[in-house]
Amino acid sequence: MVIDFHTHVFPPNIAGRAIASLEKTGGFPAHGDGTLDGLLANMEQGGADLSVILPVVTNVRQVGAVNDYIISISDNKQIICFGGIHPDMPNIKEEIIKLKKAGLNGIKIHPDFVRTFADDNKIAKVINLATEQGMPVILHGGADPSFPDYVRCSPDIIAGLLPKIPGAKLVCAHLLGYTYFDRLLAHLDEFVKFGLYLDISMTLDLPKSRDVLPILEKYDSSKILFATDYPWKTVKETLSALNELPISDEYKEKIKWKNAAALLEI
Ligand SMILES: [Zn+2]
Repeated sequence: MVIDFHTHVFPPNIAGRAIASLEKTGGFPAHGDGTLDGLLANMEQGGADLSVILPVVTNVRQVGAVNDYIISISDNKQIICFGGIHPDMPNIKEEIIKLKKAGLNGIKIHPDFVRTFADDNKIAKVINLATEQGMPVILHGGADPSFPDYVRCSPDIIAGLLPKIPGAKLVCAHLLGYTYFDRLLAHLDEFVKFGLYLDISMTLDLPKSRDVLPILEKYDSSKILFATDYPWKTVKETLSALNELPISDEYKEKIKWKNAAALLEI
């Protein structure tokens, strides 16, 4: 069993444009066309059973349409859908309740695309409203190649957020940024105590991919999640990189699906 905790799809009518624009700003090519069909083909090829789809909203006006599209595909049994929330939108509580009623499983916020630091009270408010509904929240973590000037979600910034969101089920993507492993280790005890989840997307194929080992060895083994960030990485390449790491098979199973299943209560 494999659950990919971090994937993106776009509606078929805008996927081509969205992927081309992200390839340009991000500086690396996508695998596949960015549609749900492309994701399902990638899952089949790499052996993933379930994918968590994370929409990225970039402005307040777009939130309704983005979430309506996600809701429209959410009946598919191979995917688990999160909704997008912009911290500056009105009626945040109503939108979160709408997503919950539609059967979505969590909330995604990308601090860079909404131009808000992760420890801002506005982000804490969204997370606390999601927690009231029993929904987990995932934040992009570390530097985003589309936003080279600021990092709005680093280990130090997350350390400032956690006291504002007691009881939240929070996931930070990309092990909170591969350029901050020393800061992640510096905050390790408080993050583990909080129960902070980390996804491993985009961290396993670095020139020094073994840099993740001290994190995996020292962190709570029940809080690390398999994730690709598809279409930016494939299931196949990410799984083979994970399989090569010198950690126990039991730990790999927790990363591949057990931890995600516990978090999502599935
Ligand atoms: Zn992503």
